[in-house]
Formats: sequence, C-alpha cells, structure tokens
Amino acid sequence: MKIRPVFLNNKKTIFIAGPCSAETEEQVVNTARALSKYNIDLFRAGIWKPRTRPNSFEGVGSIGLTWLSRVQKQFNLKVAIEVAKSEHVAAALEHKIDAIWIGARTCASPFAVQEIASSLRGVDIPVLVKNPINPDIGLWIGAIERLAKAGVKRVCAIHRGFSCVNDNIYRNNPLWELPLNLKKEIPSVQIICDNSHICGNRTLLNDVARKAISLGFTGLMTEVHQDPDNAWSDAKQQITPDNFGLMQQEVKNLNVTELDFLEQFRTEIDEIDVNLLSLLNNRMNLVKKIGIETKEDNTILKQKRNNEIISTMLKTNKNLELNEQFIHSFFEFIYKESIYV
Ligand code: PEP
Ligand code: MN
Repeated sequence: MKIRPVFLNNKKTIFIAGPCSAETEEQVVNTARALSKYNIDLFRAGIWKPRTRPNSFEGVGSIGLTWLSRVQKQFNLKVAIEVAKSEHVAAALEHKIDAIWIGARTCASPFAVQEIASSLRGVDIPVLVKNPINPDIGLWIGAIERLAKAGVKRVCAIHRGFSCVNDNIYRNNPLWELPLNLKKEIPSVQIICDNSHICGNRTLLNDVARKAISLGFTGLMTEVHQDPDNAWSDAKQQITPDNFGLMQQEVKNLNVTELDFLEQFRTEIDEIDVNLLSLLNNRMNLVKKIGIETKEDNTILKQKRNNEIISTMLKTNKNLELNEQFIHSFFEFIYKESIYV
C-alpha cells in the first residue's frame, strides 16, 4: 500500500494539541494563542462530536470552522477537525482546513469510512485515522486501505486505545502491541499517540506520552483547554496550555534514537501483568459474592471445587505450553488466597 507521511522531519516529535471541542470563539482563540508559544504542528478542535449518549454536548457545528480559519490566520497554525460523513468533508475542504481525522467510532464502520474515502477522491488533504474502539486491527488497516484506494496520499494513524470491559486504570486500554503490529503491517505509516483518550484523566498523561515516544511513535495528540475543569466535553482529561508545555518538555528530553525492541517486549509483558491483576481482582470479587450468598464453610466441598478447577486448567493447557506443576501451584495459591477473602 502506497502512503506518504503526513508529517515531515522524522527526527523531531510531532505535537497535535487543542481542545476536545470548539465551544466558543473566545475559548478556541485563547487556547490557540496560548498553544502558539509551544510550536505545535497542528491545532485540533472537534466541531461535530460523536457522543456515546444523546443529550451530551454534540459540538457547535459549522460555525466552528470560521473560528478555526481565524486561528490559521491570526497564529499561523495549521488546524484539524474530525469528520464522520461526506458533508463534514465538504465543509472542511470549503473552509480550507489543513487536515482531518476519522474518529474511533467512525473507524469501526466500513460504510462510514468508505463514504469519507469516496468524498476525498482527487483531493490531497492529510487524513489521520484513529484506531476503532474495539481491538480489531483489521478495521484500522481497512480504513487506511480504503483511503489509499480512493487516492488519498497522506494518511497516518492515531492510537487512542481500545474500550475496556474490565476495570482498568485507563479510559481506553492502550494494548500497545496493536499499534506496533500496525507498524509491522504498514511500515510507512506514522503513528501518533492520543494520550488524552487513552488516559481519560490528567494523572497518567505524561507517563503514556513518554511510553509512546520511547516506543518510536511519531508524535502525540493531546487535548488542551484554557480552563479544563469547565470544558464542555472530556473535562477530566484536558490540560492547560502550561501543563502541555511541561509535558512537551518532558518528552523532548527523552533520548530516543530508534525503535527499541526490548522495550516493546517489556511493554507487552507489562500490559499482560496489568490485565492479569485486573482479572484476578474480578475473580476475587466473585469468590466474595459466593461467600456472602452461601456463608458456606465446607472445606471438603471447597477442595473438590478446587480440584475441578485444576483438572479443567490442565486439560485447557493441552493446547498451551505451560508447565503442569506450575498450573498446580498457581491455582493452589489462588485457592488459598480465596479462602481468606
Ligand atoms: C476526540 O478526539 O475528541 C474524539 C472524539 O476521540 P475518539 O474518536 O478517539 O473517541
Ligand atoms: Mn475528546
């Protein structure tokens, strides 16, 4: 697949920053003014917002395009918006928006992606493709392919994490191996990490930023607002322009020369450990519930149940490669811990 880079100058980290949503002209202009000090590559603002539930703020619509034109002229910044259908694309092109992105919910729908791709035939505008909300790398690749087939030349990927079923410290689980696999499949693709939507809150933002850059990502997309606590969408995860400056400095101080494979493996192991912990926590919660329901204190029954579990796990292991003694010890260990919950 032939795609050209969206961002030139591979040596430096790319920064895309701006509010989750354009709310008022004043908010957009003030945030852009503050960010213009930090040498960002692209100013982002959503004007049509795909919200999970109705009655949330769904964006200001086309009026926001004129505010972004002002940002382009007044601060000499390039601007990007999210598009979800062909009318959005037409409006973006009419207002000379510099780049567009396809959101996570839209990426999960091949019809919607195809509609956007078809409306871009013969147009040379960079398109940034967020990963779909579900961990299906095929949909992500498929969206990039649809754009490439329609003749869109400059395409890149945005990693914003994947919906979590279990409790997780992240709003969207990063599953780092997925963007790394995307890079293996399409080596020419640049990947930007949207640390805001991965984290869902400010506290982990810098850690995720450092992680992405040390894994060789091209840059970051971060939500920045002049007054984050009062933002009309995604208030918990947005940061002030000054805190953006601090994050940028931290990332710039990292010394990353090339993709570190050892770091990649460690990342995958860390991720598995986090998932293991969260699964164990869920298991313990269920054990507690059984304890409350039955108030059962029958050691013989419990031992029988534990033997059943071990024997099922040994059978399951026929398709896996774990040591049988390890399986015994591991489940005995969990069993003992469960007795005391
Ligand atoms: C956004 O970038 O504001 C957005 C809606 O993100 P996502 O599509 O990743 O949920
Ligand atoms: Mn957002």
